Parts: sequence; C-alpha cells; structure tokens
Amino acid sequence: MHVKREKRLQHDENLTTERPTFVTHLECAATGERHAADAVHNLSRAGKPLLVRYDLAGVKKALSKQALAARPPDLWRYRELLPVRRVQDIVSLGEALTPLLPLPKLMQKLGGDILVKDEGRLPTGSFKARGLVMAVSMAKAFGIKHMAMPSNGNAGAALAAYASRAGIRSTVFCPEDTPEVNLSEIALQGARVYRVNGLIDDCGKIVAEGKAKLGWFDTSTLKEPYRIEGKKTMGLELAEQLGWSVPDVIFYPTGGGTGLIGMWKAFAELEAIGFIGPERPRMVAVQASGCAPMVRAYEAGAEHAPRWEDAHTIAAGIRVPQAIGDFLILRAVRDSGGFAIAVPDEAIAAALEEVAREEGLLLCPEGAATYAAYKQSLADGRVSRSERVVLFNCATGLKYPLPPVRNTLDRHQPIDFAALS
Ligand SMILES: *Cc1c(COP(=O)(O)O)cnc(C)c1O
Repeated sequence: MHVKREKRLQHDENLTTERPTFVTHLECAATGERHAADAVHNLSRAGKPLLVRYDLAGVKKALSKQALAARPPDLWRYRELLPVRRVQDIVSLGEALTPLLPLPKLMQKLGGDILVKDEGRLPTGSFKARGLVMAVSMAKAFGIKHMAMPSNGNAGAALAAYASRAGIRSTVFCPEDTPEVNLSEIALQGARVYRVNGLIDDCGKIVAEGKAKLGWFDTSTLKEPYRIEGKKTMGLELAEQLGWSVPDVIFYPTGGGTGLIGMWKAFAELEAIGFIGPERPRMVAVQASGCAPMVRAYEAGAEHAPRWEDAHTIAAGIRVPQAIGDFLILRAVRDSGGFAIAVPDEAIAAALEEVAREEGLLLCPEGAATYAAYKQSLADGRVSRSERVVLFNCATGLKYPLPPVRNTLDRHQPIDFAALS
C-alpha cells in the first residue's frame, strides 16, 4: 500500500517536472523532410521553415475538453500541443489569456458581427510575447547562450524581456525609425539594441552574419521553429473561447505571418484531436498599401511574394518587405477561401480614432488596419454582414506615438464653464 502511494506521488511529480509532451519531430514546411526533435534547429536542410509535429493521436487520448477547462487561464494550459518538455525550462512573465471583445456601437453602425482579440494585454504589451516565450524557453532547454534578431520593435522587446529573465544574452537590430518606446524598452529589458539604416530584412542580414561569425542563435521570424508554436496558441485560445468553434472570418495584420500560419496549424491540430470539426475561418491577410507583398502575390496568383521596394507605413509591425513564410501565408489564405487586402495609412489612422472614440479601445495601428480592412471588405462585398469576424489587435495602442493634446486651462483666471459644457 505504502509503496504504491510513494510510487504514485513520484509519478505525479514527474508529470509536473517532466511534462508528458507529444513532440515527435520537426518537418520542413516545403519538402516534408523530417528533422529530429530535441536538437537545435534554424531552417530546414532545404532552407525553409521547420514545423513542429506532434503525436496527435496520443494528445487525443491524453487531453479532454473538461480537463482543459479546469486549468489555469494562461497559455500553458495547452501544454500537450506545445514543445517545451520540462516545466523548469518555462520562462514565464504571466502569459494571460486575452479577451475577445465585441464592438457593440460599431456593430450597430455597420450592421456586422465583430469581435476584437485584444492581444495588448500580454507581457511586453504585444502578442510577440506568445512566440518569444516559447522560443526563449526552448533556447533555455537547449542551453543557448546568445540570441539575436531583427525587429520592428515588439518582437525585440519580447525577446529582451524573456531572454534576460532566462539569463540568456540578446542582441536586437531595428530599422532606425522604429518607435522610440520600443527601442527604450528593449534596452531597459537588458538587450543590446542597435538602430540600423535599413529595413527589417536588412537587419536580418546582420543577424545572419553574426550567427556565422559569433555563433549567435538566429531568432528571426520562422527561422527558428518555436515562435510559431507560441503564436499558434491564438488559434487554440480563440476556438476555446468560442466554445470549440471558429469564427467565419479572421482579419490578421500580416508581416512575417507567424500568427496566421500558426493559427492555421492550430485549427488542423484541434481537428485531429477531435476538438473541432473540418470547419475553418476564412483567413484574411491584412497589409498596408505602402507594404503589401502578400496582397500583390495573392492577386497575381503567385506562390511566392517578391520583395516590396520602398516599404513604408505607420503600422511598423507589418512593414515587412519580404517574408520567408510567404508560401505558407498564401497557402492558408487560399485554402481557407480568404483573401489578402491592403489598406492605406489614412484609413488605418481613421480606424484607430474611430474605435478609440466610439468603443474606448485604443488599438495599435496594425490592429486598426484590420478594422479598416473589415470596413473595406464589407463595402466591396467580400465579407457579408452576417459573417462573424474576429479582428486581431496585436499590441497595446500605448506603445505608439500618440497625437498631442493642446487644450490648456489657466486656473488663476475665471473659468468659462459655459464653454466647457
Ligand atoms: C509583429 C507584429 C505584427 C505581424 O505579426 P506576424 O505574425 O509576424 O505577421 C502585427 N502587429 C504587430 C503590432 C506586431 O508587432
């Protein structure tokens, strides 16, 4: 009796320290070639992104919706579908579930059905935390000492925060006009950060060279396999929040596309474990008119998206001239019956103001782009009013330069309250 109980205790302890994970291997997203799990990887041998594969039949047996419902409300509740094997490798800053907020006034105005997934509540104020908590936890498991990345701001901030917490060095290269607050938070959170007179892909070249010369670990979007696993949790969480169903349409502000590809992967995994059926949302890739390589490729019927020259937009997070996962983004958009759409900066700014004023929700410009794209899609008939849409607000609006306020009041003078009424 006694021995048995001891044994069980030990077993339970193992479950919490040595997670029963289900990773079987990594797979080249282009060729399907298998790569070993539990080894340090960047791109596949074919130079393409690697996707993590799981024993989904095993997950199906091990995990029920009821068991999941009883777990703490954070990203780690989906552990069977995540790559981290040991609890002690998790470098958490509290990856809370993010709310799904209706926009009642705007729904009435437009006659549509709109929910905003507000990712600004995550650590470091953006959904980049989802990806980087996974990448850094895996790096810790592998004993990686120095991580580097090119970033438009939010990814660098998340890398800096988690890497410092894990005791890993980090170096970040940003385009020189990256929002000031991002550069400051990256530096304060313990990374070395440099402004580079170029765009994010120019910064990426410096990282690649540093990898060759100094042995940095290249943490660029889709050049390491685990950020996408973290971003995938947006899809898992969304389906759970909607009672294990999916919305009709997802509007996703697309830069490197990790989130869009990740959610598409999440829905397939959820179907494989029997949590949802074959239904899928239409995936809409939203870009800015000043940097829209995916939209151009989508409209041309192309499989790849060549570099967009002279990229410019106020939505810094989606100013990505060329994406290594282009074919995966375009595939998900097409397979889902979705589309790619570009919105001008003026429409992004107007959308940001409208949602803040009407609904009290301060979106980031990239999030505002999804609302602008939704309105444009209603107007041109690509989305109907009866469709339930989810817009992704990927960061808190507080991380961006905000318009100044010029009203002043001299309290030593008589106050004209009539003018204030
Ligand atoms: C990174 C980022 C995006 C783009 O996300 P991807 O998944 O890399 O396409 C959009 N908005 C913000 C605020 C971001 O930081």
